[in-house]
Amino acid sequence: MVLYGGIEAGGTKFVCAVGTGPGDISDRMRIPTTTPDETLAAVGAYFAGHAVDAVGIASFGPVEIRPTHPDFGRITTTPKAGWEGADLIAAVTAARDVPVAIDTDVNGAALAEARWGAGSGRRSVLYVTVGTGLGGGAAIDGRTLRGLVHPEMGHVSVERLEGDSFAGVCPFHGDCLEGMASGTAMRRRWGRSASELGDDIDRAVEVESHYLAAGFRQFVYTLAPDVIVMGGGVSHLPGLHQATNERLVAMMSGYATQPEHRDGFVVPPGLGDDAGIAGALALAEDAR
Ligand code: ZN
Repeated sequence: MVLYGGIEAGGTKFVCAVGTGPGDISDRMRIPTTTPDETLAAVGAYFAGHAVDAVGIASFGPVEIRPTHPDFGRITTTPKAGWEGADLIAAVTAARDVPVAIDTDVNGAALAEARWGAGSGRRSVLYVTVGTGLGGGAAIDGRTLRGLVHPEMGHVSVERLEGDSFAGVCPFHGDCLEGMASGTAMRRRWGRSASELGDDIDRAVEVESHYLAAGFRQFVYTLAPDVIVMGGGVSHLPGLHQATNERLVAMMSGYATQPEHRDGFVVPPGLGDDAGIAGALALAEDAR
């Protein structure tokens, strides 16, 4: 039996797991993201103790994912203190001599959702996570979308909701999609987190769905997805998937709109909260 290792590398925690796929994860361990030395040593120790045939790393970004680049496998220009230049691949290969693949967490999740989840059987699957940050990845014909950099879908420009004067929270662009619609933006705008909105929840969903739809319209017209899978903590706001789907169709204004866009086009992850670690296992499967 072929066993895969997966690492979901996040800003607050790393999850290491072993299994054959999302329905068969035989072991998993959560490691807090502290310093690279400490966290990556724990990752190495985990794989020293677990025999696997290949490892996939689904990482927060930006990360260098071009195999021919000298910095392949390293975190690049992160604002996360101490992590710039951290070598994720070396953490694994120091412990175990197996093929290791790396991609972004959202590219990995798109691949996993296309293979096993809400995008199963579809050619072009987008995965967008709306959490502390906002990011998106794509799996097209079973491969992730990548080039000079990986997709950074959270940083596209979005048209403002009429009358909205909120400045946005992106340290680079201010009012880009992430700046207007991430969990951080929501906390700044409302003075509390998405789970504490109380009576403001309807208005919050209205504002949030506007900005998500404004971003998604660009993804629809540039990447022609068959489905957009939306996960992350903020995506649990009641009615957000449907509200975003409706707003998106309205913003497309009848241009190149298919019946499939109208309903069930913006959907929750089929793999639920395991989309991330499943992405890492999918990358491992492909690495082998
Ligand atoms: Zn930005």
